[in-house]
Amino acid sequence: MTVIAVVPGDGIGPEVTDEAVRLLDDMRLGLEFDHLDEVNATTFRRTGAGMSPQDFERIRSSKSVLFGAIGAPGVNNSEYGRGVLIKMRFELDLYVNHRPAFLWEDRLSPLRDERRRNVDCVIVRENSEGLYVGVGGRVRADTPHEIAIDEEVTTYHGVSRVLDYAFSKARKSVCLVDKSNAVPNGGNLWQRCWRDAVEKNPGIDCSHLYVDAAAMRLIADPSAFDVIVTSNSYGDILSDLTAQLAGGLGMAASANLNPETGFGVYEPVHGSAPDIAGRGTANPLGAILSAALLCEGIGLTEAALAIRGAVSAAVSAGRCTPDIGGSLSTREAGAAVRAELG
Ligand code: ATP
Repeated sequence: MTVIAVVPGDGIGPEVTDEAVRLLDDMRLGLEFDHLDEVNATTFRRTGAGMSPQDFERIRSSKSVLFGAIGAPGVNNSEYGRGVLIKMRFELDLYVNHRPAFLWEDRLSPLRDERRRNVDCVIVRENSEGLYVGVGGRVRADTPHEIAIDEEVTTYHGVSRVLDYAFSKARKSVCLVDKSNAVPNGGNLWQRCWRDAVEKNPGIDCSHLYVDAAAMRLIADPSAFDVIVTSNSYGDILSDLTAQLAGGLGMAASANLNPETGFGVYEPVHGSAPDIAGRGTANPLGAILSAALLCEGIGLTEAALAIRGAVSAAVSAGRCTPDIGGSLSTREAGAAVRAELG
């Protein structure tokens, strides 16, 4: 049996993860689930750490992780996140954040021009350095003379390996997004690595956009993009934009990966959404499509295709939650996908 660690987390995390696990279980794929129900805000409040060393070891010894979402009102989510998600990303060196966006149904697009609605792209976000490494500090904190510094870290090794991954996923083209005109040091390093990567990958269309122009182009014509590779912070922002172009946060899936070890933490892009937690209205498709990515990551390619096909059929039939125009509950929407799988 292949052990998959399941971390439901907080808010709507447990509701949506439950539907993804039910689906995988129903498919009899030879997976065994190790449920880590103590990784949550209650544990963080009680112990000061959201994840115990023992739970981290269970994660490390699993094949991969299906993750819900963490975060709760009244909790220092930055400190809490550093001990859970950021800890996994950094200590397991999950240096790729793979965020696909695909428009499952024309009616889900917010764009007016029908010819330009088609979204089928992947944001490859550098996941281990950049602006989110936590290097920096505050001087004269809480005074009118406060100075705050957050350093952006860029390394040749870090950029080269994420570019290699981006090119390995390209079907047509790769677009580098940066802000090298205004952030010249890290920007020049990205550009140097980019030139090397382009040279190594003939036959793939390559382009470059500054992040502000990329945001405009994504709205004007998302169908122009295949793989977009970018830094941690720009990837974070642009992937919310592509998620919205493809039907909203409720359907967006992601994978935190180390392509060398094959280990991955798979999670919906949305957070714990405390505003709708416990109501049974959360869309489980982001979690279910993350389970499809997990299947792909551990070599169950046919299962991944089957899940995507079932999601597509359920959404086309309007058998989905209210955020994407349906009237089903989380449970019913999960059951609708399972029914499509037969
Ligand atoms: P966090 O701080 O944990 O990221 P958040 O509430 O700030 O949580 P999200 O969880 O990403 O951010 O949610 C933003 C909004 O999108 C929520 O308020 C919710 O209304 C909506 N939303 C997010 N996920 C879903 C979902 N799966 N189904 C339906 N609506 C969702």
